[in-house]
Amino acid sequence: MILPVRIYGDPILRDVIPPVASHAEVLPYVRDMIETMYDDDGIGLSANQAGLRSRFFVIGKNAFEDGRPDSVFINPAILEAYEETWDFEEGCLSVPGIREWVVRPRTIRVRYTDETGTEREEVFTDYAARVFQHELDHLNGIFFTDRISPIRRALNKKKLKELAESQNK
Ligand code: ZN
Repeated sequence: MILPVRIYGDPILRDVIPPVASHAEVLPYVRDMIETMYDDDGIGLSANQAGLRSRFFVIGKNAFEDGRPDSVFINPAILEAYEETWDFEEGCLSVPGIREWVVRPRTIRVRYTDETGTEREEVFTDYAARVFQHELDHLNGIFFTDRISPIRRALNKKKLKELAESQNK
């Protein structure tokens, strides 16, 4: 089932989303989340983007270089961000019509619970690390447009305001 994707201006996208008590709570939603992500040509989707107040996100298999399938990350956390950063043009299903270059750490060490309830620690780099950071930001109420330069933010201000206002009608 395709879930409606929440758009910039929806208050759930500014919330800090609380942890999940058990991985089993989120499993019923994972398939719909992945379906919704692909329907909108996304590579990742956080639960609050789909209106769910649970701390998890999904990332599509194409973000990974190790051949893993579409994956769910429950109660995700960044344990360490390595010094090297890189610039990449990001977009977001919740911020249609805007793409901006965002500087982020290239490599991160993370912890999360997987779909079997197993807590894992691993290192992600490049695109997988980028998507992980973008989605984790969502669970903390942060948009990629919060991470761009003040000049670029000013240039996007009107578009963002219009998006937000379209949510209040
Ligand atoms: Zn996003």
